[in-house]
Amino acid sequence: MIIKPKVRGFVCITSHPEGCAAHVKEQIDYVKEKASGTAGPKKVLVIGSSTGYGLASRIVSTFGTGAGTLGVCFERPANNGRPASAGWYNTASFEKAAHEAGHYAKTINGDAFSDEIKEKTIQAIKDDLGEVDLVIYSLASPRRVDPKTGEIYKSTLKPIGEPFENKSVDTDKKLINTIQLDPANEEEIETTRKVMGGEDWELWMEALEKAKVLAPGAQTVAYSYIGPKVTWPIYYQGTIGKAKEDLERACKAIDASLQKTGGHAYVSVNKAVVTQASSAIPVVPLYISLLFKIMKEKGIHEDCIHQIQRLFDEHLYSEKGPSLDEAGRIRIDDWEMRPDVQEAVAALWPEVSTENLEDISDFKGYQANFLKLFGFGLPEINYEAETEIEIPIQGVE
Ligand code: NAD
Repeated sequence: MIIKPKVRGFVCITSHPEGCAAHVKEQIDYVKEKASGTAGPKKVLVIGSSTGYGLASRIVSTFGTGAGTLGVCFERPANNGRPASAGWYNTASFEKAAHEAGHYAKTINGDAFSDEIKEKTIQAIKDDLGEVDLVIYSLASPRRVDPKTGEIYKSTLKPIGEPFENKSVDTDKKLINTIQLDPANEEEIETTRKVMGGEDWELWMEALEKAKVLAPGAQTVAYSYIGPKVTWPIYYQGTIGKAKEDLERACKAIDASLQKTGGHAYVSVNKAVVTQASSAIPVVPLYISLLFKIMKEKGIHEDCIHQIQRLFDEHLYSEKGPSLDEAGRIRIDDWEMRPDVQEAVAALWPEVSTENLEDISDFKGYQANFLKLFGFGLPEINYEAETEIEIPIQGVE
């Protein structure tokens, strides 16, 4: 099949298997070149392992210090002549590369919020790994079915208290527009917390601990975002920010329990990058386009893989251990939040318009990055050639 990108709003409904494999290989090559190969995890569970920060965590674990990884994700296989989702192809090519290099890698494809997938995962750890010493929690989902009640919760991206109005970019039409959002009601705040807060992370850690599959001294990390004031009403102080506050609450509870064996739980605040999750947030794609321009000019641009390499090297597996901020969080958004970077972005914000979008921001870089998530725009791929869409992953039955 010949596959071309089909972008609908902020998603691309097609993905290219060889392009996704080339994107994964690019990340593996970066880690191989960068890794010190000394300290790192040995057996890792990555929840949300197929794209974005979770995939980068899996790649750094394996190709940094040779860890075996069990991944959990929710991806769509090829069906009726339709290509699989990008996360499916990423997983297939990651597994192939890991196996060729002699590393354990298996993936459980299903709803991580369910009891069934937690049980399957624990069984796979018992059967294959015995225990895990690092658990990465990197889910980004618009909905969650509560495993105890069966109730479906949906997350919303809304401000709290006041309506919000600001510039945004229609990434499909390349237009700067104004978005207006009404504040969330109490129910929307709560349903977003149920989906993106810390409850499910706690359920995972409780289940792993109860099953005695956590190695003594095991660590766990969940990812969060803070960002600049311009996105605060929609992010940090909005419904998603409230959910992330709950993640920090959960982190303290999990940490207290892991400390009994010398382990720890952390929230790592990561930088803004282009992923399927971040492209759905109003205002954020415009901010990212400006941020990329400034960070590239300053020679400090980073994508998921660079961020996670730094998280492992400078924090989780550094000799002195993680450096924490006043709220106890790891901050690998430190370069994004540097005052000179933020001042430069803030100066461009009022100036940016449809007419000058490509000149004063890195919108082109944003778009290229977005297409790359789905395996498009990689120079080594011939997109006119037929490609096989049915590619298996090594699932766990
Ligand atoms: P992403 O969309 O690239 O990845 C989400 C992952 O979750 C995928 O592997 C997907 O398969 C999996 N997933 C979703 N629903 C699932 C389910 N029900 N069961 C199993 N797997 C499921 O997202 P991302 O941007 O990498 O986000 C990961 C985390 O990083 C989130 O907590 C996000 O808030 C945080 N973060 C993102 C950014 C950013 O700019 N993208 C910045 C800082 C922090």
